[in-house]
Order: sequence, then structure tokens, then C-alpha cells
Amino acid sequence: VDNSATPQELVNELDVPRRFEIARNWALGARDVAEKTRHPLALRLWEFIDNRTTIGAPMPGGGIHYFFPEKPEHEYGYYAYLTPVLAEDADRLEPDDFRVGFATGNSSNIAEYREKSQAIYLPNSNFGAYGKGVLLLHEALHAWLDIKQRINRTKKNSHWIEEVRVFKFEFELLENLIGSGYIKLCKRMAKSIAPLPEDPEALNLDYRPTEEDEALIRDKMGTANDSETKIWVGVCKIHAYWLYFADTDSSADAELASFLKERSTPVL
Ligand SMILES: [Zn+2]
Repeated sequence: VDNSATPQELVNELDVPRRFEIARNWALGARDVAEKTRHPLALRLWEFIDNRTTIGAPMPGGGIHYFFPEKPEHEYGYYAYLTPVLAEDADRLEPDDFRVGFATGNSSNIAEYREKSQAIYLPNSNFGAYGKGVLLLHEALHAWLDIKQRINRTKKNSHWIEEVRVFKFEFELLENLIGSGYIKLCKRMAKSIAPLPEDPEALNLDYRPTEEDEALIRDKMGTANDSETKIWVGVCKIHAYWLYFADTDSSADAELASFLKERSTPVL
């Protein structure tokens, strides 16, 4: 992008109307999930998304360029920035930029909130409406906790403790959207967790999801493809570990936080 570009030239060059349209679709997914589940926090986060977000475009050098449809009432830090990463962004960014993975669908992180830029990166991959909604609500909770300064960053492992808090919210959404079959699946997975005989420190989950398990998730979530279905199976596995810790230890949240930290769990 040319530094001397006028705002209108930037809007054209970065295809801003298309970015608005994509971000809007994700936001509507969040609204659908909030309205379907009536989860109080989801409803509050939908309000946050509706009133306190606009869009961003990823820029070379690591930051974003943000666009407001009209002059904003508040300063930059008040908002979060929904930043869809488009296929063509791979050509605009340096090859080692972490956002290239979102453009090519190769990112190990499915969506991501970044604290400094307050950007919520949305990947160039297909998801059903509920899937988009759950992923965006997850990231919106990170954004909300950060912007409202609800996290004590000086505390050890604060990043992973926050992650557990956000995942527990996500578990509740999935339980609500998928129904009792979801929690039954998580419990079956939890029963299959055991320490490895050769390494008692390491836990292993030995459950292979059946055709019916996958069909349940596919139908209730309206997933766009198999890789989306696998993502929700993966969240169910994290839920299973939480159930396992809750059953064997009094501090399930802390146990899950160190478990996620150790695995550097990709679903962030
Ligand atoms: Zn997260």
C-alpha cells in the first residue's frame, strides 16, 4: 500500500466493502448463536460486537488499518476490529507474517484475538453460521476481557487461565447448540482418558469418534465441511479433559490451564 494513498484509494485497494460483508456474516453468526442459546454472556457479547466493533485490514509490518463507516464516537482503544484475512492478503503480507496462515487456511489457530491491535482475525475458511458464531464469540470474549481490563496480567499463567474461562463459555454454547448428545460424547471421551503406561505424567485420550458422533455434530452445528466438524470434535476433547480433571482433582480449571499450556493448544 502506497503511503500517499487517499482514504478512498485505500478503500478500493483493500476491497473494504467485501471485508465489511465478510465480517458482517461472522457477526450475524454470533447473533444467531446468542439468540438460539439465550446464553446471557453470548447476548452481552453480541451487543459488544454490534456496538463496539468495526473492521480492520491486515497491513504489512504486523498491524491493521481500520475503517469506520462513520466518524467514531470513541477513541481507538474502545473498539475491537473484526479483521477477515482474504486469500489475496497472502500476496500483500511478508511470507513470515503470522496472518498468512489465515489467508491460506493453514493456520493452526482457527481465529485469534491480538491484544495490542485489538484485532480479531477471521480465517479464510468455510464455516457454518453457528460455527462462525461460536468462534467469533470465543474471540469476542477475549477482546471484551482485555478491553475491560478484567484479566490480571501479572498473575502466573494468566493467559492460560483466561483460555480456560473462555473455553468453559464455549463448552456451554456447544452443549446448548448440540444438546445432550454433546455432553454424552464428552463423557465417553473423558472415560477413555488415562496416563500413558510408559509415561505416567502424560495423558492420553483413546476415544475415536464414531460416524454417529460426527453426524450429530454435523447436523446440529450445520458444519460447512469435515474439517469444521473435526474442530468441534476437538473442542469436545478439551471439554473431556476438563471433565477428567474435575473427576480426579479439586482444581480442574488450573489443571486444564497447565494442560493447554503444555500442549500449546491450537484452538485459540
Ligand atoms: Zn481463546
